[in-house]
Amino acid sequence: MNEEFTAIKEYINSHLSDMVSLESLLTSHPALAPENGGDGEWEKCQALEKWLKENGITRIEHFDAPDERVTKKVRPNMVATIPGCKDDYNIWVCAHLDVVPVGELSLWNTDPWKVVEKDGKIYGRGVEDNQQGLASGVLAALSFVKQHIIPEHTIKLLFMADEEVGSTYGMNYLLKEHASLFGKDDRILIPDGGDSKGETIEVAEKSIIWFRFHTLGKQCHGSRPDQGINAKVAASDLALRINDLENFFDKKDSLFEPERSTFQPTMQLQNVAGINMIPGDDVFCADCRILPCYTLDEVRAEVNKRVKAVEEKYGVKIEVSEAQAEESLPTPVDAPVVKELAAAIKAVHGIEAKTIGIGGGTVAAGLRNLGFNAVVWSTMDELAHQPNEYAIVKNIAADALTIAYMACN
Ligand SMILES: [Zn+2]
Repeated sequence: MNEEFTAIKEYINSHLSDMVSLESLLTSHPALAPENGGDGEWEKCQALEKWLKENGITRIEHFDAPDERVTKKVRPNMVATIPGCKDDYNIWVCAHLDVVPVGELSLWNTDPWKVVEKDGKIYGRGVEDNQQGLASGVLAALSFVKQHIIPEHTIKLLFMADEEVGSTYGMNYLLKEHASLFGKDDRILIPDGGDSKGETIEVAEKSIIWFRFHTLGKQCHGSRPDQGINAKVAASDLALRINDLENFFDKKDSLFEPERSTFQPTMQLQNVAGINMIPGDDVFCADCRILPCYTLDEVRAEVNKRVKAVEEKYGVKIEVSEAQAEESLPTPVDAPVVKELAAAIKAVHGIEAKTIGIGGGTVAAGLRNLGFNAVVWSTMDELAHQPNEYAIVKNIAADALTIAYMACN
C-alpha cells in the first residue's frame, strides 16, 4: 500500500491544474436557487456529470428532487461511486452544487462567474463554497481511477442541490426519500467548513430556534400613554427576558465557541410611522443557539412561561411563532470517522486534529439526527458568501490526499 500511496500523492500533486479547470467550468454555470432568482443546479450538474464521465468516473446515479419552480422541474442530487476492495463501509464526500448570489457586484475585483487564478489562489463565486470540497473529493477519486488502483473502501461522491436555502431539495430530500443510501458505519465527510490549517473536525452543532414575537397592545397618542397599551415597552421587557435565558440554560460545553447557549433578540420590524405615536403592535425576532444537552421543548416551555408573565404584567397579547427549528445530535468524538480522519490528518500533514462544535447550520445536522456520523472538515480560509471569494489551490491537494489516505487504510 505504501507504494500505491506514493503514486496517489504524486498524482494529486501533479494534477492541480485539472482542478482549476474543473472549478472554472463549475463557476461558469451559476447555480442559484429559485429563492435567489435562479433556475437551480441542473446545468451545472450536467456539466459536472459530463466532465466526470470523460475522466473515467462513470458509475453515476441520480436522486433528483421534484421542484416545479425550475425549468427542468427537478433539483439534481447525484452520486458517483468508485468501488473499493472491501465491502465494509463507504467513504462519503458530500458537497453542494448551489451557490449564493454575488451580492454587491462593485465589491468584486473580477467577474464572479469567471475563475481567475492569481498567486496560488482562484477567485470566483463558489470556488470555495462548496466547489473546493467538491474538487478535493473528485481529485481523490481520480487518483485511484486514473491509475487503476482500487481503494480499500468504496468512495462515494455526493453532489447535492439546495444547501444554501435550507436543503429541502438536497440533503433533507435524500434523508426523507433515500436514507438507505447511507449506512450506519459509513464515514461521512462534509468539506463545507474548516480552518486554514485543516486541523478542526466539527462534530456537533448547537440546536437552532428562530422565534418571532408579535406583541399586540393598543395604539394611542404619544402624550396620552394611559389611553393605550404600549406594545413596544412590553416587547422590550420580553426581549430582555429572552436574552436572560442565557442565565437559565446556563450549562457550558467547551467543545463550542462560545461555550454557552445563546438567546439573542435580533431583527425588529417597523412599527408606527411617527415619534409621537405609542405603538399598539410590535414584532421582533430572536436567534437562539442551544447546546445539545437541552431539548428544544425545554426551551419552548420556558419561553412560553416568560411570554405569559409579560402578557400578565402589561395586559398585552403575544403571538409566538418559529421561523426555523432544528434539533441537532452530536457525532460522538470517538466515532470511527472522527478517529480515522484525525489519523489521516496526522499522517498526511503531521498535525494533531481537534474536535469542535459550532453555532449551527450544516447538512450534518440532518444526518446526525438519523444516527449517521458525519463530520464537517476542510482546509480553507472560510470566504463563504463574501465578495472576491477565493480558494487556495494547494488546499484542494491537501484535502484530496487526506481523503485518499482514509480510502487506503
Ligand atoms: Zn457551503
